[in-house]
This record gives sequence, structure tokens and C-alpha cells, in this order.
Amino acid sequence: MSLELHPVSVTLDDVSKYFGNVVAVDHVSLKIDKGEFFTILGPSGCGKSTTLRIIAGFEVPDSGRVFFDDEDVTFKKPYERETAMVFQNYALWPHMTVFDNVAYGLRVKKKRYNLSEDEIKKLVKQALELVRLEGMEKRYPLQLSGGQQQRVALARALVVSPRILLLDEPLSNLDAKLRIEMREELKRIQRSLKITTVYVTHDQVEALSMSDRIAVMNSGRIMQVGRPDEVYFRPKNLFVAEFLGRSNIFEGEIVGEKGDYVLVKVVELDKDIPATPVEKGLKGKVAVVIRPEVIVVGSPKSDTDVIFKGVVDFKMFVGDKLEARVKVGKVTLLAYLPNYIDVSVGSTIELGVSARNIIALPYK
Ligand code: ATP
Repeated sequence: MSLELHPVSVTLDDVSKYFGNVVAVDHVSLKIDKGEFFTILGPSGCGKSTTLRIIAGFEVPDSGRVFFDDEDVTFKKPYERETAMVFQNYALWPHMTVFDNVAYGLRVKKKRYNLSEDEIKKLVKQALELVRLEGMEKRYPLQLSGGQQQRVALARALVVSPRILLLDEPLSNLDAKLRIEMREELKRIQRSLKITTVYVTHDQVEALSMSDRIAVMNSGRIMQVGRPDEVYFRPKNLFVAEFLGRSNIFEGEIVGEKGDYVLVKVVELDKDIPATPVEKGLKGKVAVVIRPEVIVVGSPKSDTDVIFKGVVDFKMFVGDKLEARVKVGKVTLLAYLPNYIDVSVGSTIELGVSARNIIALPYK
């Protein structure tokens, strides 16, 4: 007997869920691969927890289907699905030791799978080793730090060899330093087990740092699915561009083409600037997105296609970078500059951006 996992893929096929008049999940279709770390990212109330609860079987969709591999699980009970969920508040039993908390699911299973007490001990030991909590078996949850409690919750989820691991904002109750530590830990465990993992969060850094792919959700709908670098560097719409990272966004109109780029007339900047379109055949009114970190200082470099000349309006040293607001014509550009650079407020500065780092997307 050992911790053996048989991960599955998850398919949501045109799933919708209403609560009264509220559409919590609105025609969502997703395919999560076997062994993938998949994150649903979005603001509060966008429907991410409901989507996760539909996968777990705690909610039945009003329409659409849910598949684990080829098996239709839409109407199956949660315990028939062999998934395990970790909640934000860990939901540990305070009157039970770490060992008993982790063993609980196995004891319930014992009747079904005929596990001996020795086998249970072995599995709990393996699960606690995996989350690096060896030697803590006899403690009670209140004798553990938040991070350790989180690990117990994770061990308890993994010990039953779930087909899918479901995590609902599991790190939000931890302090900033521990959260970073647990991010790495979760990723390490997920990689070593190759378990299909669906992670729900509103924290973009968590999503970007851990996921194989991210679905960005808003108002019950999926706005974009892609690898972290894809959704960050190539947001498909304004919502994703504004939700992930910080952006300078201008309204413009496509007035021509220049090689792989489109030429966008941006009235506010009083310029036509080249930009990379996010989709073929993009026309008419667009939004131009420039991330603050793609802006460089100084005279034209070989890959600089646009120069902005402006006056430094505000600067803030934040350790690893200098955040500057530079007034260019009628607008103010936010730029992340190297932390060693010496610019003073009121001085004139030249900023350069490459066209491949300027994104044009549909204006909606
Ligand atoms: P949060 O990050 O705040 O948990 P979320 O993105 O997970 O938000 P959901 O919890 O899925 O969002 O909720 C989506 C919408 O459905 C919200 O408008 C919420 O108020 C509503 N909702 C969720 N569960 C219920 C319920 N049991 N009864 C009524 N409305 C609900």
C-alpha cells in the first residue's frame, strides 16, 4: 500500500449555474489536462469557487456537463468522484491530533477498501513526509502555526489518493512570507505527484508563479485561458490586461500596417505608434497596452520603435525598481525604471518602447 495517484483530465462542457437571478457560472467550457496545475483566477464574486464546487460535486450545474476523462460525472455525488478539496480555513478538527486528522479520510475509506491500521499508519506517514511534517503526528491543530495547519490540510487531502486536487484560496490566511514559501512547496508537491490540480485564487502572483495554465474569469465567464506568460504578455482583452499586472492603456484606431505590426493613431499621445495585434485582422477602434516594465530610458536602442519625451512628474523608489510617472503630452506614463537611475522630478526624460511590447487589442 502506498500513496498512489491516478490523475484524470477534467472537462467542463458549456456549464452554467444560477443562484436565483445571479449567473455565477455562465457557459463555461474548459479542458484541464491530466497532471496539470490549472488555476482559475478572477476578482471576488466572478464565479471561481462555484466552478470549483461544480468539479467537486458540491453544486450541480443547471446546464452543461462535467467529465473526468471520458466519464460523465455531472450528477455524481462528491464522494463518488474521488476528488479532495483544501479550503481557505483548512477545516481541521481541533479535537483530533494531526495523525487523526490526516487518517480520517482513510478510516472512512477503511470500511470500503478494507485498510488495516498498519496500512493507515504507513499512508499517513507518507503523506506527512510529503508535506514535511514528520514528527508532528501527536500535536493538535492549535499547537501548529498557520503554515503547518495548511500542510496538515494538504496531507489530509492527498492521503486518500484523489483523482483531482481542488484548492480554494488555500494560502490567503498566511502571512506574506509564509505564502511565498507555501507557493514553492505546493508546486514541488504537485510536480512530484503529477496530480491534476485545480487552484482558485484572486491573487495574480500566485496564479502566475504556480500554474501550468490559467483561466481568467469575470462575471461568470472565461475571459482567457493560457500559460502564465501568454495571459500576461498577450492579454486578449481589456479585462485581462487590466486585471493582470499594471498597464498604461490608451484608446486608439488602427490606421495602417507596418510589417507584423499595426499602426495605431493614439489621439491622447498625438502620435501614430506601431503595436502588436493580439489577433489577426484586428481593425478599427483598439486599446493600446504598454506594461510599465517594458519601457526603457534613454536614447534609441536597436529595438526601440517608439520614443516618448516627457517630464518626470513623480518618482518612487520601491527597492527593486524605481516607479516613475512621466508626463507625455496630455497623458502620464507609468514606467518601471532601474533602481540605480538618477532622475529628478521635473527633469525631461526620453523613454523608448519596442513595438513587440506594445499590444493592440479589441476595444470593448
Ligand atoms: P470569492 O473570491 O469572493 O469567493 P468567487 O469568484 O469564488 O468569489 P463565487 O463564490 O463562485 O465567486 O460566487 C459567484 C456569484 O454567485 C456571486 O455573485 C455570489 O454571490 C453568488 N453565489 C455563490 N454561491 C451562492 C449561493 N449558495 N447562493 C446564492 N448566491 C451564491
